[in-house]
Amino acid sequence: MTKADDIDNCLYPKSAKVHDLMADLIDKYFATHLSLPWEDAVRLHKEYYQNYGLAIEGLVRHHQIDPLEYNAKVDDALPLDGIIKPRPELKKLLADIDRSKVKLWLFTNAYVNHAKRVIRLLEIEEFFEGITYCDYGSVPLTCKPHPDMYRKAMRDAGVEKYEDCFFVDDSYQNCKKAQELGWSVAHLVEDDVKPPKTPACQFQIRHLEELRSTFPQFFK
Ligand SMILES: [Mg+2]
Repeated sequence: MTKADDIDNCLYPKSAKVHDLMADLIDKYFATHLSLPWEDAVRLHKEYYQNYGLAIEGLVRHHQIDPLEYNAKVDDALPLDGIIKPRPELKKLLADIDRSKVKLWLFTNAYVNHAKRVIRLLEIEEFFEGITYCDYGSVPLTCKPHPDMYRKAMRDAGVEKYEDCFFVDDSYQNCKKAQELGWSVAHLVEDDVKPPKTPACQFQIRHLEELRSTFPQFFK
């Protein structure tokens, strides 16, 4: 069994506002590198995010941008050090998982630098056996919710059966696709976020703590 965790807005809360900081840097990137007026940059960023799941995928498809340079200007430029801090309740939650029954795996659309930085700041490296990230160095980019990305995570983690995969993500589309493929999925919808009209998947949780009752078979 493998339990895959999304990283951003999942292992730390939306209230950390990392998403807003990132969105701002992405808007700036669009404005500067595509020479667009601010409103057009914001609109195109939103359009690519909705169409492809990642702004960068649109940039790679439709413009000649270097994804690694983008990564340096956006994800790696985020001032995370004062913002993402260790969370004792998260560490306790992860420590209470019986890792003889389930392998913990990180599954993110970020590039590996950002993913590792967040995990280090949260001080939770020790709990995870590996990570599947979006490889900005290989074009075309593969990211959630594309089915190939889920299969890549399974290959990376050494799992063969879809039904052996358990997954948590804060993205509606990512959860929906995971369930379609046959994973068991918990959609994290934080307290201050409006729940979707139609649930994305079988389980919807307000807090990661609820994983204790959603997937009790994995806790000590
Ligand atoms: Mg996320």
